[in-house]
Amino acid sequence: MNSVPYYVGRFAPSPSGPLHYGSLVAAVASWLDARAAGGRWLLRMEDLDRPRCEPGAADTILRQLEAYGLAWDGAVLVQSQRDDAYAEALATLQAIGALYPCACTRSQLALAPRNHEGEIIYPGTCRNGLSAGATARAWRVRVPDVNARFHDRIHGELQQNLAYEVGDFIVRRADGLFAYQLAVVVDDAFQRISHVVRGADLLWNTPRQIYLQSLLGLPTPSYAHVPLVINAAGQKLSKQTLAPALPETGRSAILAQALAALGHPPPAELTGAEPAELLAWTAAHWKIENVPARSAFATPLP
Ligand code: GLU
Repeated sequence: MNSVPYYVGRFAPSPSGPLHYGSLVAAVASWLDARAAGGRWLLRMEDLDRPRCEPGAADTILRQLEAYGLAWDGAVLVQSQRDDAYAEALATLQAIGALYPCACTRSQLALAPRNHEGEIIYPGTCRNGLSAGATARAWRVRVPDVNARFHDRIHGELQQNLAYEVGDFIVRRADGLFAYQLAVVVDDAFQRISHVVRGADLLWNTPRQIYLQSLLGLPTPSYAHVPLVINAAGQKLSKQTLAPALPETGRSAILAQALAALGHPPPAELTGAEPAELLAWTAAHWKIENVPARSAFATPLP
């Protein structure tokens, strides 16, 4: 165990459905990184996007984590109960003049250029005020035209120019909900997270989050983005790509496969060992530098 002085990690699933193999890989990586450092591992239910949440999914996720031996510390933080904290952060951003109202609809932005993640780069239509008769729908944060550098423990030194690659981004959505970028920053600080370990689909969200942290005077945790699991068509496993829920049986083999995808294949003598034993062995041998940066193919689950 290479203890670091202060380590608090977290897993932050969205309860839009049960965990699938791709989300297991991310959960296992953040659990191992925390436990290998002698740290705490917290859980946060990201049920911010109410319309996308599935009834019962949060409980299912907790049961799935337990079945894989992924024990968490303390109470689960639930985003749907945190509106006051997000409203306060929004008010702070407003008070420092970082925000402006935006009247653009999705269809008005449909033809705007997109970045390498396929996201619309906001062209700044409402940046200098709403046009006459337009109604404010969402709130955006103004981003600077600078190359922001950041470090990822797996991907190394990276940089992104928010103005060119993202544009002013939404912190309060047209439907009144707080945006993920705002909530994640507020909650990582509230839970005093020191190390974020999550899927590489969120890698290019990191500069937005670091920028919000700087505006709100919050600390920046260290970041590591673990390989995404993709299906045979090269798509990320997700609810949208119809990734199946983790099966109720064969956990030991599934976990061994997840550990191999993270560059830590368990030794042959642990074949068939209980999840808790596999995790304990891997925590003792965990080296983040062995985690590959590239995506892993999902082989059919046993
Ligand atoms: N809730 C997000 C997801 O399930 C993860 C957020 C994060 O780890 O920052 O994709």
